[in-house]
Amino acid sequence: MNLEYTTEEEAFRDEVRAFLKDKLPKRLSDKVRTGKRLTKADMEEWHAILNEKGWLAPHWPEKYGGTDWSVMQKFIFETEAAQAHAPRIVPFGLSMLAPVLIKYGTEEQCQHYLPRILDGTDWWCQGYSEPGAGSDLASLKTSAVREGDHYIVNGQKTWTTLGQHADWIFCLVRTDASGKKQEGISFLLIDMDSPGIEVRPIKLLDGDEEVNEVFFTDVKVPVENLVGEENKGWTYAKYLLTYERTNIAGIGASMAALEQLKEVARTTKRGGKPLIEDPLFAQRLAKLEIDLENMKTTNLRVLDAAGKGGAPVAESSMLKIRGTEIRQEIGSLMRRAAGRYAQPFVAESMDEGYNGAPVGPEWTGPVSSQYFNNRKLSIFGGSNEVQREIISKAILEL
Ligand SMILES: Cc1cc2nc3c(=O)[nH]c(=O)nc-3n(C[C@H](O)[C@H](O)[C@H](O)COP(=O)(O)OP(=O)(O)OC[C@H]3O[C@@H](n4cnc5c(N)ncnc54)[C@H](O)[C@@H]3O)c2cc1C
Repeated sequence: MNLEYTTEEEAFRDEVRAFLKDKLPKRLSDKVRTGKRLTKADMEEWHAILNEKGWLAPHWPEKYGGTDWSVMQKFIFETEAAQAHAPRIVPFGLSMLAPVLIKYGTEEQCQHYLPRILDGTDWWCQGYSEPGAGSDLASLKTSAVREGDHYIVNGQKTWTTLGQHADWIFCLVRTDASGKKQEGISFLLIDMDSPGIEVRPIKLLDGDEEVNEVFFTDVKVPVENLVGEENKGWTYAKYLLTYERTNIAGIGASMAALEQLKEVARTTKRGGKPLIEDPLFAQRLAKLEIDLENMKTTNLRVLDAAGKGGAPVAESSMLKIRGTEIRQEIGSLMRRAAGRYAQPFVAESMDEGYNGAPVGPEWTGPVSSQYFNNRKLSIFGGSNEVQREIISKAILEL
């Protein structure tokens, strides 16, 4: 199904395109287009440009700085920005914590934290997973014991993405170990500068250090940093995951990547013919395009439900599975198209200014690193196997 826009939607799309043409720095879009790694300063630069325009938080209520965009406008903005190779906005504060604060936090917490997310004062990271609690997240053990007007936090989080840059971490902590494990979890906001916190990097398959271990030893956290009610954190955690999974699907990014793949398939020759004429390659490409078109519709359903305050659990799990499968398949086909040039795995080729010996056309440089990095997509935000279980419970009531 190809989406058709109304006249108003076309006008909005043109406005978005003009903004991107005018305000998206070429240095940033070049980095995104050629698969280079973004620095913290790069991510902050684009965040600030969107904030200045008032387009940083389309999914927030207007009174906190959101736009009053329709579902289609949000979709148009996301897909146009991705197709212009704009950097993805770091989601932890903006798209994960903020919806939780808006739904379950106090007005004071909203007034304090939301403006700081918008203006970039606070960089957030997510403290959910632990060494013994990934898929089985409710088994988490990091404890928070109330002492007067503080909690004392002890334990360890792991896989904390971009935690090395973070000013704050939102954490799931155990405040009661006596009953059902889901019923003793609380949602706590912790200042990363608190004494007793240690961050250690984990090196990934592609050579990057984008994730960390975070250790807590007798960390004092004021009780006003609790979100919602004590021991009700599991409800808030699940609500947040709906937003996280929708975000991971990355439809706009896949649309842009598919365009690049098609261009590569048209211009790369195998056995004297363009790759796009290879029946096996063409068949995989066609399936990708069909899947992506179908996913757009599911995405609109999720955006619509989320916009009405709902938490579309099964649909966001569907989006997560299919969206990440598509992203991984695009990476696989890019690697196939690169052929022998995909063999040299040069992690530095993802860094700006990398000047190593050319081993193939420019686009082949980061193909292997990206392929390895993309393995994470079917693991984080809840593995795809676990998403299938969520769908079967929600829809089939198994
Ligand atoms: C790059 C990266 C970034 C991440 N960033 C963050 C972050 O910022 N913050 C954070 O809190 N977490 C983060 N995570 C953690 C992520 O959410 C977990 O890795 C994920 O939930 C899986 O948990 P696990 O690694 O403990 O694997 P496990 O839960 O041990 O699973 C191992 C395997 O068993 C399968 N499995 C487990 N249970 C079932 C089941 N019931 N049915 C079928 N199969 C099952 C899984 O699918 C998987 O294949 C990140 C992970 C990665 C890889």
